[in-house]
Parts: sequence; structure tokens; C-alpha cells
Amino acid sequence: MRSAIFLPANSDIKSEQLEARIMNILRHRIGKNETAAKEHDWFASAVLALRDEIIDRWIESTSRTHEAKGKRVYYLSLEFLIGRLLRDALSNLGLTKEMDRALREHGLNLAELEELEPDAALGNGGLGRLAACFMESLASLDIPAYGYGIRYVNGMFRQRIDDGWQVELPETWLAHGNPWEFERRESAYRIGFGGEAVVTDDGVKWVPAEEVEATAFDTPVVGWRGKRVNTLRLWSASALDPIKLEAFNAGDHVGALVDVLRADSLVRVLYPADSSPAGQELRLRQEYFFTSASIQDIVRRHVQYHGDIRTLPDKAAIQLNDTHPAVAVAELMRLLIDDHGLEFAEAWDVTRETFGYTNHTLLPEALESWPLPLFERLFPRHMQLVYQINSGVLKQAREIGMSWDEVSAISLIDEGGDRRIRMANLAFAGAHSVNGVAALHTELMKTTVFADLHKLYPDKINNKTNGVTPRRWLQQCNPGLTGVIKEAIGDEFLDDAMKLSALNALADDAALGEHVLAVKRANKVALADHLKGLMGISLNPDAMFDVQIKRIHEYKRQLLNLIETVALYDQIRSHPEIDWVPRVKIFGGKAASSYHNAKLIIKLANDIARRVNSDPVVGDLLKVVFVPNYNVSMAERIIPASDLSEQISTAGMEASGTGNMKFALNGALTIGTLDGANIEIMEHVGRENIVIFGLTAEEVAAQRAGDYNPREIIENNPELRQAVQGISSGVFSPDDPKRYAGLMDGLYDSDWFMLAADFESYSEAQRDVDRRWRDTAGWQAAAIRNIANVGWFSSDRTISEYARDIWGVM
Ligand SMILES: *Cc1c(COP(=O)(O)O)cnc(C)c1O
Repeated sequence: MRSAIFLPANSDIKSEQLEARIMNILRHRIGKNETAAKEHDWFASAVLALRDEIIDRWIESTSRTHEAKGKRVYYLSLEFLIGRLLRDALSNLGLTKEMDRALREHGLNLAELEELEPDAALGNGGLGRLAACFMESLASLDIPAYGYGIRYVNGMFRQRIDDGWQVELPETWLAHGNPWEFERRESAYRIGFGGEAVVTDDGVKWVPAEEVEATAFDTPVVGWRGKRVNTLRLWSASALDPIKLEAFNAGDHVGALVDVLRADSLVRVLYPADSSPAGQELRLRQEYFFTSASIQDIVRRHVQYHGDIRTLPDKAAIQLNDTHPAVAVAELMRLLIDDHGLEFAEAWDVTRETFGYTNHTLLPEALESWPLPLFERLFPRHMQLVYQINSGVLKQAREIGMSWDEVSAISLIDEGGDRRIRMANLAFAGAHSVNGVAALHTELMKTTVFADLHKLYPDKINNKTNGVTPRRWLQQCNPGLTGVIKEAIGDEFLDDAMKLSALNALADDAALGEHVLAVKRANKVALADHLKGLMGISLNPDAMFDVQIKRIHEYKRQLLNLIETVALYDQIRSHPEIDWVPRVKIFGGKAASSYHNAKLIIKLANDIARRVNSDPVVGDLLKVVFVPNYNVSMAERIIPASDLSEQISTAGMEASGTGNMKFALNGALTIGTLDGANIEIMEHVGRENIVIFGLTAEEVAAQRAGDYNPREIIENNPELRQAVQGISSGVFSPDDPKRYAGLMDGLYDSDWFMLAADFESYSEAQRDVDRRWRDTAGWQAAAIRNIANVGWFSSDRTISEYARDIWGVM
């Protein structure tokens, strides 16, 4: 039963209550009066006032689950790319107007206060943002859930562009404190490293050489309409001894703090690598640190409320977001066997029934594996268990008559060269469900990386196409469009995104088309104003805003877009008299600090921008913008203002993509390859309402295996040749003419990402986009059909499928 704790009789009373609370907090918790209060004090007071509202719901949600003895979902993720929370919480609680009114009483503006909140960027890109969307949908669907991760002191780096180059600066999101979180001193666990596994009278015990303490910091996650409030529990680390007094007294002041530094390093910084494994020992320590704390917490809660640890799978579903927490399989086995006295076979059943594993990448080089000697040194007891698990798995494989090659592909240990532990194989074996994140990706899992494991365990692989929360990615980021949709079809879509389909009947309605267009234009004006302030650039809001924002990676092919931009630039210069469709090409994204080519691509975008934007022949026909420091808040500004969404990865390489969904939901048309979720977006919005180009995944594989010759393609396509040669010879880098020679040589020589193969098709698709754009009514109708048919890509649908098929909680 749900109690209505703060559904106000009327909204005036609510805003008066909020105001009183804010003033009380400002005085008694912040310790200031109105005269002394700075804007950050007001921000903190507003958040704390709102948080007080949330706490009642939070406690109520938790007690409901206790009373029902319900099953909980635990989502383990090394990344949560949360963004800001104030607008999200206000909107989900229906208190936006009330808060705005309360603040206005004191001459403050809610929109401005919202801008003071730092972007909680505890993730790299899609994988971390997925975890954040999932947390919101779990609460919205009233599913009891905890998210578990690390409370990084420095999240994703802040990107500055200096003379066109990416510069990485630490992101200090905790500098002003974090009013959302609660430190839970009572929820602390010891996390061990090293030492040895000792045989005792009652079994094996791990005696670690070092220990740190993991402490919980809880952030409430408010579901839509405040239905439920779940918990995001992030772990921080501290030393058991804050200071080694003996060393200190002996004058070794640094050595006295070594434990503190060691603990701090575990949670100091997020590894800023995307789609490639981080590799270093500290990363493995981070992974184990948060996984062990989370598994200990889950086991403790289960025993406390349900008694018998054998019933764990009835009360807990643990989802592993990629292999980063895969060591959880060995950790749970260790706790079940060494601490709770289960036999190996019984522990193995409990473990597999409890875990699900989500795979996010097929790139063999991106699959996590750890050198066996390192793993054994840090986790001697887990190593024994991995051997034991492996021997069971291999025995099973031999029993069904698998060949030696198949058996060695299944092994949790890679015996080739230096021996390594394959984390994906450990997760696969230790879970009852292994899911991909889009239909194509899941099919490729079965035929490529996991072909042999799939043969041994044919019932494990299943698909759960990703989704995004329509609260953040439509309602909050695009209130204008939300209003227009409400007027057209009522407000049922707010509770069920599938109801957006009512827009289909109105797709050709001229009045609706004009309203959608007007909102888009207003969003473009707002973005142009923002970028004017940020970068000093002037953009024409009547030009097509053509956008590619995402991590910079060669497989995502920002370079293909840039080369096509140069080709277009060349054509406009040769024929400025033609009535070109004016375009603003917007790029944004961060490159991993060690990823040389990705950083060079950022520089190239900026070099092209400098040249194109100052060319009087081109004028307003073409502008190129690289927006610095792409993050969630920036995405919330750019996506509602986008006309065209660039989703142009080499087919077979983007597991799903979620940016593609956000754009379509906001009425942008997609230009894209048949990759990841693009395929399913096409199936939902209709082939006529999306622009598809390029090789299929199958064709890419065939070309790579065959005699693909990019040099020949480049030399035989005059536009491509001219663009590549121009970049290569320094047209855009007169200060360093050879800057891009190597990057372009790579295209001639190998072109792993098939830019040359797809260029012509891409370029034709872009001219098709131009033709569609000239037909304003047709474009609007297609945009509306996109909005109408992407409700399926709500993370509510995704989470319902996980809940039903994997977790057994719905
Ligand atoms: C959605 C999102 C992503 C993922 O975008 P893709 O285009 O799917 O790679 C990355 N970063 C941020 C900030 C996002 O909001």
C-alpha cells in the first residue's frame, strides 16, 4: 500500500512549506542568514529542503520491501554517469513549479540555481549513462533496487580545448560538498588484498596482507511521480589506521600516511578509458574493492532479513554491468564456502542463480583479462576458486564432446603466451543469464566471441535492447516539446512512453508540424546563445544542426564525418552559387588520455572549424563547432536542438548506442549505419523516416577477410581523394603541414574502420538529407514519426524485460 505523504492539497501550500524549509535549513544547517547567503548556500538549502521530502518516501519504500520480504535487484557498475539531480528530482516529484515559486520569493531563479550543480560524471559514456537510466527506471517501475559503484573523488576529467587540442583537467565535483548523499558509517566492510589462503580445521581461510575499509555513501534515486525511492550506494575507502604513529614519531611523516594514500588511491579517479580495458593493477584493485564491499553488503542484508544464505537467489538478483565486477562470482563463492560453510557444488548453484551478466562489447581487444600472476598475488583464495570453477566447466565441455580448440576457448584461463584470466568467461560461467544490449549485438555474441560458451550453455544468451529514461531525455531536457505533445495527445505518454504512438495519426497535421518546428527553433536559439557565450561563435538557428556527440573513438567514425565535411566544404567553395542547405556541424566528445588518434581527431575538428568558419566564400552555408567538455548536461542542451543525429559507426562495432535513441525521441532524424540499436530504431520508425547507408556487419566482416583495398577506393573517388589529400597535405594545418599525414596514411594502408568503403554511400546519404530538409513539411512529418515510434526505447521497457526474464521480480 502506498501512503500519500506529501501530495499537497494545493500547490501554494506546498511552495510555502518548501520556502519555510529552505529558510530554516539556510539558518540552522548552513549557518547563514539571507544577507550572508551566497548562491551555493541557496543551492544547498534548496537541495536539502527537497531531500527532506524525499527521505520520507525513501524510508517508506524500504519498509514496504522489508514487510513484503521482497526480492531486490542489485546493479553492480563501475560507472554511473548521473549528471545533475536537482531538476530530475523536482520533476519526478512534481515540485518544479513549487520550488520555483519558493525561490522567487527571495529573488532567486531556479534555472540559474540548477546551473550551480556540478555534473556527477562518474562514468565515461554509454555504459555509465545506461546504469543511471536504469536506476531511474527501476524506481519508476517500483522495483526495489540498489545501484552499487565507487564514489570517485575525481570523476570523468574536464575537457578544455587549448589551441584545438584536448587538455584534461581534474573534475572536482565534490568541491562544494554533495548535499544529496548520506554517509553511512555503520555500513563499512573490510576489503583485503594479497596474503595467502590458509588451510584451517574448518576449511580454507584467506588471510590478506593488507586491508582497507569501504564506507557507504547513499544517494536517493527518485522514480517518476515519486512512486519509489531507491538507493545508489557508492563506496569510499579509508585506511584502518589513519596514521602510523610509530613511523610519524620516528620522523617519517610521509611513510606514516602511506596507508591513507593507498586507500585514497582506490577511489581517487575514474579510469577515463572507454571501449578498451584499463589494464593496470590499480584498476583491478578498484574493481575488487567495490565488488567485495557490495557482495558483503548483499550477503549481510540477506542473512539479517532472511536467515538462510541458501535462499539468496530468491531474494537477490545481482546484475553485472560488463565484466568490471566479474570477480563477484569468485567473491560470492568465497563467502558462501569459507564464511557460510556451503559445499562447493551448492555454492556454485546459488552463485549462478543469483548473477546475470551484461556484455557491452565484442571487440576482442576490449575484453577484460588479467595476468594470472597478478590476480594470484592479489587474490590467492579467489585464484583457487577460479581453478576449481574452471575444472568443472572444462569437464562439462569435454563431456559433451567439444574439441580441444573449443574447450580452450571456453577456459576461464587463456593459456596462450602469458597466462591470463578471462573475466568475460568467468562472468559467463558464473551467471544464469548473459545478455547483449541490441538484437544485432546479441546475435554476434552467439557467433563470434561467445560461440563456444554458447554451445556449452545454449540457454544463457538473451537480448535486452538498451533504453533511455524519457523523464530526463524528453520531459526535463525538452519541456517545450513535452508541452506540444501534451496538447496534441494528452498526457498519458508521461506514464507510458509507448503512448507516444498516438502522434502517428497526427504526423501530417500541419499545425502540429509547425508547433514542433517552433519548439525546435526555440531550442536551437537557446543552444546558439549558450555557445555564443561559451565559445564566442555565432550560429544561424535556421541552418540544419547536424550533430555527432559521443566519446571520440575510431569505430564511431568522427573522422568519416570530418572528411565528408571537408568534401562538402570543397564543393561549396567551387560552386558557392548553388542553393546549398546551410549546415552547422556540431561535434563533441572526450578522448581517452592515452588514445593518440582520438586526440588527433579532436584537433582536426578544431583545425577544420577554424578554416571553414573564417572563409568568407562559405559564410553561413557551413559552420563547424567542436563543443568542449561534452557531458550529460551538455547533451541535455544539444539534443533538443538537433535536426540530424549522426550514428555512423562501422557496422558490427557499436553494441547498441543510446545517444541514437535520445535524438530520435527529440525529433531529430538519424543518418546511420545498420549497427547496434540503429537497426531496431529503423524497424520502429520506418525505413522512410531514417537515412541508412553503408556496409552491413556481414559485409564489413567479408571485406576485412577478403582483399579490401582502401587505396584504390580513395584514388578512384575524386571528392574523397581531394578531401583526404587536402587534410594530409596540411590545408587545415599550415602551422604543421604533416600533422595529419600519418592519420591519412592509415586510411590508405589499412582503414580498419572502413571509412573509404562507406564514404560514397555516406556522402549520397547526406545529399538525400539535404533533399529531405528542403521539404519542410515532409521533414516535420518524419520528425514526428520518429518521436511517435521510439517509445519502445524507454529504459522502462528495457528494465521490464530484465525484471521478467532475468531477475524474476515482475
Ligand atoms: C547518451 C550519452 C552517451 C552515449 O552516447 P552514444 O552516442 O550512444 O555513444 C555518452 N555520453 C553522454 C554524456 C550521454 O548522455
